[in-house]
Amino acid sequence: MGEDCLFCKIAAGQMDTEFLRETDSLVVFKDIHPQAPVHLLIVPKKHIRSINDLEEEDRGIVADLLFTARKMAADQGIDKSGYRLFFNVERGGGQLVFHLHLHLIGGWK
Ligand code: AMP
Ligand code: ZN
Repeated sequence: MGEDCLFCKIAAGQMDTEFLRETDSLVVFKDIHPQAPVHLLIVPKKHIRSINDLEEEDRGIVADLLFTARKMAADQGIDKSGYRLFFNVERGGGQLVFHLHLHLIGGWK
């Protein structure tokens, strides 16, 4: 676990955050400051700082993030209406929490 990493603590169940989904490799929870009616964060349990720090061995994790995003969009009923998936990468890209996470937003009328 990254020292004092917020998303490591959340993923380890230390922050009382409600998970919409949990698997061996990741957790999904609601963003605390939603930018859209649906705003979920899909977060690997492994501490990876950003997209820049992915290693070859993380290919399975990346696939899990994307397949889970697709499933969560369907679960939330926004797959057909449409949604956005994005990673903010490093400070210039808007990253504030330095533990890899995939944003899923949608649900606009
Ligand atoms: P980023 O700018 O890509 O690093 O996104 C970090 C996201 O984490 C922001 O959208 C925050 O609103 C969200 N966030 C920060 N703290 C929490 C928390 N305790 N629970 C849920 N989401 C959080
Ligand atoms: Zn972490």
